[in-house]
This record gives sequence, structure tokens and C-alpha cells, in this order.
Amino acid sequence: MALRDLIKPHVRALEPYQPGKPIEELERELGISGSVKLASNESPLGPSPKAIAALQKSFANIHRYPDGASFALRRKLAERLGVPGEQLVFGAGADEVLELLAKVLLGPGDECVYAWPSFAMYPIVVQGMGATSVRVPLDRDYVHDLPAMAAAVNERTKLLFVCNPNNPTGTAVGAEAFDAFMGSLPEDLVVAVDEAYVDFARRPDFPDALAWVRRRPGTIVMRTFSKIFGLAGLRIGYGAADPELADYLQRARHPFNVNRLAEVAAAAALDDREFVERVTGSNVRGLDYLSRELRGLGIQVWPSEANFVLARTGAGTYERLLQDGVIVRPMAGFGLPDCVRISVGVPEENERLVKALRRIREGGA
Ligand SMILES: *Cc1c(COP(=O)(O)O)cnc(C)c1O
Repeated sequence: MALRDLIKPHVRALEPYQPGKPIEELERELGISGSVKLASNESPLGPSPKAIAALQKSFANIHRYPDGASFALRRKLAERLGVPGEQLVFGAGADEVLELLAKVLLGPGDECVYAWPSFAMYPIVVQGMGATSVRVPLDRDYVHDLPAMAAAVNERTKLLFVCNPNNPTGTAVGAEAFDAFMGSLPEDLVVAVDEAYVDFARRPDFPDALAWVRRRPGTIVMRTFSKIFGLAGLRIGYGAADPELADYLQRARHPFNVNRLAEVAAAAALDDREFVERVTGSNVRGLDYLSRELRGLGIQVWPSEANFVLARTGAGTYERLLQDGVIVRPMAGFGLPDCVRISVGVPEENERLVKALRRIREGGA
């Protein structure tokens, strides 16, 4: 008997996640150096300095298991969000919270509704449990088509994701549409609002999803320390859920799923308001610069509420930028072969990307 016959069919059918390659590896392959990576929506300003300082003090304690209840971080975050501490569920990245949701809610025959293109982890966690993805195309403007998503809900739907702002398009839905949508849904499904990029959103009518955690049973809002706080490498994110759902997610997680260093760094980063302001300020300037310059080159750019832009640069751009030492995210896997997703960098990185795109547009090498 072959090993593959022992593997559960829905696991066998999984496609491996395609991560951006490490810079060192790409440079080796291409024989280049000094490349820039604008591919994974990481903080271009590095991590929060307060987080680094706190980490340095805690290195000597890594022989100890983490605090399985994340006591200090939980208390601080609960106060910040105005959510009772018991309603917070921490994970090794928000990715783990997604996975916990799937584990707790989904099995063969169950359906999970989400928009597409959207976050690449949704299909992975759904299929990982042998459940069925129901993908609802974004509307003409590449915004979540909330009425169509509501219409896709049926008696098999256990879970629905809303990614706001949406990755990889950067688009966001406003409060009016969001509130109407949430109010229209039946009660017997879990709604998970993925707010990984909430701190970058600028539109004044950005929805208050946390208010729905208080109002609607079975609602969870997910956030991460990976993006705004620059802690992607430590792996920490969380969900703020209605109390009953939070309780089940807690039971399903591993007792030490969040590592000690991540807990310490996240708690310190929460207090680093100056860093958050620097990151958001730099992001706004970078977004405006990239949008203006790319449009100037005749490239379609979607309005972004996040720390990246989706740009219709034409097929083959990803590979040509690579040759130039600029790493962006190809979008072919999302059904957008003529688009790339570009993370906002520091000014020199953004300028380098624009120059490379200009050379490509002008037919140079
Ligand atoms: C980055 C991201 C996450 C989670 O990131 P973690 O590093 O796992 O915390 C979740 N949702 C979206 C849409 C993201 O882009």
C-alpha cells in the first residue's frame, strides 16, 4: 500500500502554499545582489523598537514555556480594544486563528463563503478540513460583493470570511454596506472579519466590526501583529470573538501555541504609538507616490486602504521585475495573470520599483 493511500483525500488534493522566496535564495538563483522585496506586505521600517528592547530583556527566559494564557498581553489588548479579555484568542499569527475556526466549525459537507480574489489562506484552511469553499467573485471595482455573498449563504454554510481591507486588492467596504450585510445574515453561521490591515485604512466610514462582536453572536474579528507592528517573523495574531465562540476556540488550540518572545514583543509593540504613527505616515506617502507614478505610466492601480497596491502591469511583469532585483507578488494564482501586488516600501525601494517599471514599459531590458 502506498503512503498516499493513507492520506485523507482532501489533504492529498491540497496545493502547497506558494510563499515569496527568501531574498537570499532569489539572489543566488538570479545571480544578482541588493534586491528589494515588496512581496509580503511586511513593515518597511522594520519592527517596533520597543518590541526589540523588550525582546532583548526576555532572551534569558526562553528556557521557560510561554504563559499559555498570555496574561499580560491579554489584559493590555482587552483594555485597548474595549473587549473583555476572555473574548480574545491568540494564535501563531492570525493564520492560526483562521485554522482554529476551520477546525472548530468545518468538516466534509460544510460550506465556507468568501470573496475571490481574497486571502490565499482561506481555501487552504477550508480544504484542510475537507469542507467546501464557495467563492463569490469581487464586484467590477474589485470590492467585496456583499449582497452576492449574503445570497451564497445556505443551510450548509458554517463560516463566512470578510477580508476588509481585502488582500490582494487593497479595496475596502464602507460602514453602510457592511452594517446592512451583517444585519441581513442568518444567525446560524460564524462571520469572521479579517482586519489584518485595519490600521492602514484611511476611509472615514471604515466599518466598526468590533461593534458586531458585541451585537451578533458568532462573530469574530481577526487582527495581526505582523503588519502594522512589524512582527511577522515572530508569528502572533488574535481574534476578538463572542464569548461562546472564543471559549471553543480556546479549547481547540494548543496550550503553548504562541511563543514567549511573541507575547513579550506584542505587548511592548502595543505601547509603541510613535512607531505606529511612523509606519502609517510612511505608508500613506508611499501609497500616494506609487499610485501617482504607476498611473502616470498608464498602469491601472486600485485604490488601496492597506500597505500594498494591486497594479495591472501586464503579463510577464513579475519575472521582468525579478531580473531587475525587485520582488513583488505575482497574481496569476488568483486569476489575475496581468497583475502584481506591490507592498509599499521606503522611498528608495518605491523609486527603484517605479524606475524598473518605467524601463519595462519603455521596452528596455
Ligand atoms: C497577513 C494576513 C493575515 C495574517 O497574518 P499572520 O502573519 O498570520 O498574523 C491574515 N489575513 C490577511 C488578509 C493577511 O494579509
